[in-house]
Amino acid sequence: MARTAVLGLPRMGADRELKHALESHWAGRTSEADLLATARTVRAAGWRRACAAGIDAIPSGDHSLYDHVLDTAWALGAVPARFGELDRDGLAGYFTLARGAADVRPLEMTKWFDTNYHYLVPELAPGQAFSPRADHWLDQLREADEIGIATRPVVLGPLSFLALSKGLDRPLDALDALVGAYAELLGTIAAAGAAEIQLDEPCLALDRAPGELDAFAGAWPELRRAAAGARLCLTTYFAGLDAGGSLDRVAALDADELHLDLVRAPEQLAPALRELADRPTRLSLGVVDGRNVWATDLDAALDRVDAAVAALGADRVTIATSCSLLHVPHEAAREARIDPEVRRWLAFAAERLVELGVLAEAVAAPERRDELLADGRDAAGDRRRSARTNDPAVRARVGALEPDAYERDAPYARRRAAQRARLGLPELPTTTIGSFPQTEAIRAARRALRAGELSAADYQARMEAEIAHVIEAQERLGLDVLVHGEPERNDMVEYFGEQLAGFAFSEHGWVQSYGSRCVKPPILYGDVSRPAPMTVRWWTYAQSLTDRPVKGMLTGPVTILQWSFVRDDQPRAETCAQVALAIQDEVLDLERAGAAAIQVDEAALREGVPLRRAEREEYLRWAVDCFRLTTAPVRADTQVHTHMCYSAFNDIMAHIARLDADVLSIEASRSDMEVLEAFATAGYDNEVGPGIYDIHSPRVPSVEEIERLLELAEAHIPRERLWVNPDCGLKTRGWEEALPALEHMMEAARRRRAALTAGV
Ligand code: GLN
Ligand code: ZN
Repeated sequence: MARTAVLGLPRMGADRELKHALESHWAGRTSEADLLATARTVRAAGWRRACAAGIDAIPSGDHSLYDHVLDTAWALGAVPARFGELDRDGLAGYFTLARGAADVRPLEMTKWFDTNYHYLVPELAPGQAFSPRADHWLDQLREADEIGIATRPVVLGPLSFLALSKGLDRPLDALDALVGAYAELLGTIAAAGAAEIQLDEPCLALDRAPGELDAFAGAWPELRRAAAGARLCLTTYFAGLDAGGSLDRVAALDADELHLDLVRAPEQLAPALRELADRPTRLSLGVVDGRNVWATDLDAALDRVDAAVAALGADRVTIATSCSLLHVPHEAAREARIDPEVRRWLAFAAERLVELGVLAEAVAAPERRDELLADGRDAAGDRRRSARTNDPAVRARVGALEPDAYERDAPYARRRAAQRARLGLPELPTTTIGSFPQTEAIRAARRALRAGELSAADYQARMEAEIAHVIEAQERLGLDVLVHGEPERNDMVEYFGEQLAGFAFSEHGWVQSYGSRCVKPPILYGDVSRPAPMTVRWWTYAQSLTDRPVKGMLTGPVTILQWSFVRDDQPRAETCAQVALAIQDEVLDLERAGAAAIQVDEAALREGVPLRRAEREEYLRWAVDCFRLTTAPVRADTQVHTHMCYSAFNDIMAHIARLDADVLSIEASRSDMEVLEAFATAGYDNEVGPGIYDIHSPRVPSVEEIERLLELAEAHIPRERLWVNPDCGLKTRGWEEALPALEHMMEAARRRRAALTAGV
């Protein structure tokens, strides 16, 4: 019989109980015992749900109070020396690693592969010692056992743990040292009665050098021996193993089970079946998407399962989620405010469990397939034919795009002259990235509007008052290109999604971003268009208050895509082009309203870069094309700005140049302007605004500090192409931090300009 498996369950609880428990514990309002009790309740609910759905392999140990990579580091005793001695029995030390303390900064946080989940980066030192403790897994295993549910402990494997860490020049060289600690962990877990252990090695599916695969193959027998008594299931996800390369190597390990993500990399299946045919390994088919929210195409999934059953026999096949369900929200059925037509197309974690059950039944009882699949087929047919997914006007517009739709009429040099004349800017022009402090008063007004306690007119008046305040502050500071401050935006993607056709918003669709933080991504389900202007009236109001130019402020198509759950029934590039045209409409309306500068933020362009090298060029080609499509039709004297809140450009510089934005603002202060070297080397010709102070910190930089950074910047980029700005929007700062910092920035710019005139 084919069996079913879930690689991980959501962690927060249906109503984000864990989030609330964590935050009240951190605030000192509740005890450690209270927090642990809530965590246990959340876990038990997940296990019961999986059990009720008939899932065979139910995960434990995947549940975390903060992050599973941190859990692993903590369990291995990999605590950096800078934290001193931390008590491993309580939670305080664990949370110190995650959140820092007065005198010690936390572990660095970064994106978990290409998801919007962030993990804490293990910080290792040369000669790192490990002292494993398996409590984390034993506790959860026992807890589940107590409610009568057998679970499969999930352990992040040693290769991935090292590959995701920092502090070692060649992290995988430490595999030898680490493998003993892992053997001890696995051995303890097996001895505690786990019938099988899921060893997650997502990094095996990235671009791996043969030597790294050798190292893992070398470590494997010891892991296997240690776990004897439990079956060892090796899981990969988010990318595929390569036929003739990593796939063959991994298949040859003869793991008890090998899991492949067939949503992301379906092409692995055929070679995997060939490789495994004469081996003992069971194959786990990740056919139910753990990364997106669309009901599974059960017929397509069954095709894959059938192929595996034919090749290996049903008792060597597991039907599974592609990865942990940590990345999808809890339950679509609860979303009463999403139009029922669209809701039928959705499957969150709860529905994923049901899908797995249906697939297993359809394999066991082929004669009942039509009956079992009827509902799903019906919904899929609706979705394919719905007017919401097929807007002829949108399709015609995308279909008619010609190459010149991506090109600005004039080359940058001509645009520059026209823009200088129109904007009348000084040398080293000053600006900001868009948002000003989102004060509690602003958020309260928005809540009141939503609750119906504030009328739309009153809300508008409050936002206008805020805009007036922001404009006045900028005039007082002497900034050259102003912004309206974005008070009306809750979030840079949601704000646009709410006004575009083709997006739905869930009420409870939270997914963990990091620690207790959750996000509720918009659901992009249909053809996208812009029924009416979205930002023009705010911009117009702001511009009416000042003679200085106010930048129009928009979120770019790639970022909107990247931070949403995106329809999976057409290529992302196609969806992105639709969004690009919708934002283009807004760009052109802003221009018509008189905007001389328009910023299109692409905060997420970089994070969309695919995990596998072979896929990167294609992504960057269409992503950059979509940005160009958004901005190309403006006049030569309209200045296009873009902003990216990171500085890792070295490997994608050619694509950054191809954006052909007139002005690009980036993060640079934390690296002492080093990033600008890449711009200089690449011969980047357009204007650059390297962020000259870090807005993520409450610290107010001194004038001298900023001046020094400006000087450094001038060493790389000719000053006639340099802008002066912070490195991101100010929405998370208070006015008491933002104002002095901007004053210092302005003073530093004035000093540099004076130095210029004096020829220093
Ligand atoms: N314009 C946005 C802001 O200032 C940009 C935010 C971002 O890049 N993340 O808030
Ligand atoms: Zn930013």
